[in-house]
Amino acid sequence: MGADAGADAGADARADAGADTREAVPLTAFPSTDDEVAAFARSLGLPGYLDVHVHLLPEALQQAVWRYFDGLDDPPWPVTYRADEEARLRALRDLGVVAHTALAYGHRPGVSAWCNEHTLAAAEAHAQVIPTFTFFPEDGVGAYVGDALGRGGRIAKVHVQVGRFHPDDPRLDPAWGQLVDAGVPALVHAGAGYGVDGGDQWCGPDGVRRLLRRFPDLRLVIAHLGAPDTRGFLALAEDHPGVHLDTSMMLTDPPYLDAVDPDLLPRYAALGAKLLFGSDFPTIPHPYAAQVRGLAALGLDRAGLRGLFHDHAARLLGLPAADATAEAGAGRGAAVSER
Ligand SMILES: [Zn+2]
Repeated sequence: MGADAGADAGADARADAGADTREAVPLTAFPSTDDEVAAFARSLGLPGYLDVHVHLLPEALQQAVWRYFDGLDDPPWPVTYRADEEARLRALRDLGVVAHTALAYGHRPGVSAWCNEHTLAAAEAHAQVIPTFTFFPEDGVGAYVGDALGRGGRIAKVHVQVGRFHPDDPRLDPAWGQLVDAGVPALVHAGAGYGVDGGDQWCGPDGVRRLLRRFPDLRLVIAHLGAPDTRGFLALAEDHPGVHLDTSMMLTDPPYLDAVDPDLLPRYAALGAKLLFGSDFPTIPHPYAAQVRGLAALGLDRAGLRGLFHDHAARLLGLPAADATAEAGAGRGAAVSER
């Protein structure tokens, strides 16, 4: 995706993406290294990034996930941000990420409420962490989803491939119903992606469409553009007012797995507020800059990038948008990194 086009651009060109115009922000303005990532957001007039796809698993679960990824070999998946939780939160702040989710998920019954205790406590302790919770088709799901919403939960995470259930499993009805009533979205991993062993039969747009027929007011964020069925999930996002896509692990520069079909790029760009920035930090096989830089391929102007990197998700989650805070954006870097 044009990795070489910006190789000769100087740091000066990257430090300032210029004033607002309808022109696409050029690849040369995008960061090449993590050191340049925070400044790029500020150059757009943002306080920083809102990353909808960050994992914050309980430590034992995080270690188990990393052991699993360490075993992948076709291709290998070297974990770039392997560190303890405090160091990972600091790394995100240093990257200019001012708000992010805390995605965790259970792979069997009895794990979700334990995950929620971890992620909601992290949100209570750290202003950058958006209160995030998960659920699983099991007894008591309605009660602990109610508890999570009562603790300020703003977004849920559901992983149907790891959890091996259909999104419209009737045991989840009490959870989905409460999300609709609260206006709280769910980020759903619904594609049979690389990095998970099996579970394909639970994945794909059909189960999500069935869910939306029963809960038409539900708001969803489909992880990883829905890969590998990017076309199916793109069509779903275009059709359905409540369906958003997150960019995590997709549209990176360079691409990790298959590059997104260039024919689809104008359609992703046209999604507007339904396309949200996400990275899959910390278990990613590339520097964070690769995710930010890859999104240059969408050809968005400065306003479009402010939406993608921050405001679209802020509005979905009921958080302040940069439009209201842009005037404070230029001077906020120091304050943000001290939080
Ligand atoms: Zn993820």
